Amino acid sequence: MGSRFASVECARLSVPLHTPFVTALRRTTTTDTLVVRVSDTEGTTGWGEAPQVWQVTGESLAGAAACVEEILAPILIGRDVDEWAPVLASVQRAVARNFGAKAAVDTAVRDVVARRCGLTLSAFLRNEATPGAAAPTGGDAYPTVLRTDVTLSAGGPDHLAAAAVQRVADGFSTLKVKVGTDADSDVARVQAVRDAVGPDVTIRLDANQGWTPDEAVTVIRAVEDADLGVELVEQPVRGEDVEGLAWVRSRVGLSIMADEALFSLVDLERILRLDAADLVNVKLAKCGSLGIAVEQLRRGEAAGLGTMVGSMMETAIGVGAAAAVAAAHPTSVVNDLDAAWWAARSPVVGGVRYDGERLVLPDQPGSGIEAVQATIGAPVDPLGP
Ligand SMILES: [Mg+2]
Repeated sequence: MGSRFASVECARLSVPLHTPFVTALRRTTTTDTLVVRVSDTEGTTGWGEAPQVWQVTGESLAGAAACVEEILAPILIGRDVDEWAPVLASVQRAVARNFGAKAAVDTAVRDVVARRCGLTLSAFLRNEATPGAAAPTGGDAYPTVLRTDVTLSAGGPDHLAAAAVQRVADGFSTLKVKVGTDADSDVARVQAVRDAVGPDVTIRLDANQGWTPDEAVTVIRAVEDADLGVELVEQPVRGEDVEGLAWVRSRVGLSIMADEALFSLVDLERILRLDAADLVNVKLAKCGSLGIAVEQLRRGEAAGLGTMVGSMMETAIGVGAAAAVAAAHPTSVVNDLDAAWWAARSPVVGGVRYDGERLVLPDQPGSGIEAVQATIGAPVDPLGP
């Protein structure tokens, strides 16, 4: 008899940030997340997380914990690890939405299986999508280091200019400027960043649903007229208003990226049908599964969309899983994986690490995570050692 899934444990974690994270939707000084640990009967352990982002996913730590403990864990316990694929299919079918909770379990299960196969999580995903692809070839065409942008929290022009200079000094060459808080002054803020960093730094904008369609067209056209060298504009209007997104896109020249408009594969098909975006931002806490994330990248690319992998405010558990997705299916633009960089001190031992804008993937099996120090911040129910 093979190894079986033996336990699914949850711990709530609140990790202080070194700098407040501010968008059109929210301001936070901590990353609040539910850490999930799955173990099998032979002692192999995998990790996942479900970040709390009330304003985007509507999911809470309490709701995610209830979903994992009451519904998803019983699906796993006692099942043969070799049956991981049908087990994960059951996880997806068991509850509506709850994408963060499902992604946490999905990630932890794939981490366990990848470790048992002796493959990094990205190699495992690559092999899953194209069997045999992970076989040693002598040269690895797939990245083990990814670049990430870094977000500048929403704020006034002077604040943004100072933050931009600091982040470039920190080693980042792609800045994501949060706009959408005040349409009248958004252009001045972007102008301040461009003036502060000069022409060689990439600037992308994220309105986080903060504009009406009319405001979006007005501001984006003004950004175009000011010739500020903006790479793309992310989610100008409400996520559910995909028609509005398409309406804006048809009236501006800059590339439009869908973020909050894209959760499921059905959402992706709708975005494609309506020609609503030039690019998509794929996140585990929106799609609920590493396999679905890879599928979204594959389908988006096949339909001619640009692609990026992003994350919510998460620890290095979720960022590492997202990085594995991006390494398994390389994206067309610099990814948005700075979330764990914001931690004043990472609670995660092993796994991905930052070197300026470079996100270095581990070469150990699975996620490479050795432990999660659940005593950092204000844990509600820390996991044991
Ligand atoms: Mg976004």
